[in-house]
Amino acid sequence: MKTFHCRCGQPLSFDNTRCLRCGESVGYDPLSVAFLVPDPAVHRHCANRTEHGVCNWLVAADDTNPLCLSCRMTRVIPDLSRFGNPGRWRVLENAKRRLLYSLLQLGLPLHEDIHGGHPALAFQFLEDRGANPMVAEEYVRTGHASGVITINVAEADDVQREITRSLMNEAYRTPLGHCRHESGHYYFDRLIGLGSRDQAFMARFGDPRRDYDAALSAYYAFPPSHAIEAGFISLYAQAHPLEDWA
Ligand SMILES: [Zn+2]
Ligand SMILES: [Zn+2]
Ligand SMILES: [Zn+2]
Repeated sequence: MKTFHCRCGQPLSFDNTRCLRCGESVGYDPLSVAFLVPDPAVHRHCANRTEHGVCNWLVAADDTNPLCLSCRMTRVIPDLSRFGNPGRWRVLENAKRRLLYSLLQLGLPLHEDIHGGHPALAFQFLEDRGANPMVAEEYVRTGHASGVITINVAEADDVQREITRSLMNEAYRTPLGHCRHESGHYYFDRLIGLGSRDQAFMARFGDPRRDYDAALSAYYAFPPSHAIEAGFISLYAQAHPLEDWA
């Protein structure tokens, strides 16, 4: 990620809301890829910043949507009345904005493609009963389906995520990693599918039509012990060609 600066010259991190040198309230403008001190005639802060403190992106002053480009892509947020959930939500939105920064830099499509039959990319942050006995959902699997990336809110909890990482024998497990991985599944559907890039995909990753459920069952029954030595980026990438791609 590039280094950002305040107009006073002070370096800013991607999550900054205020310049630590000049004290100005700053926001990130995804269109100009820069941090700005918003001119009310041109920009305003995202409503998720002014109301919840979970965002630092700007919205065009004439946009009728109170939310920024990133926050309007979230369909379901955690129950904010539950202790700790505002902080978990912030972790997930921070990760999502980093993903979107990269997707925008790469020029990848985010919006619905009606002609191609592709849905817009969207997100939902769901809790299950493992973390919150008050919700109906027994188990929420982090994943992607039909344009919607679901992330289990427990993934925003450092302790919980580290336990899962250890149990799953993973080298790395982060909210941003989940966002990136699941977006890979979205872009497979959107850019590759069974279209003109199919042969190039098969040559590099294998046949994406391989029985997914059977492959995942086999992976969990007999997990591989080597990743790099076997020519893969991770152990899990060996589960199925689509996981290797993602
Ligand atoms: Zn400054
Ligand atoms: Zn926002
Ligand atoms: Zn996957």
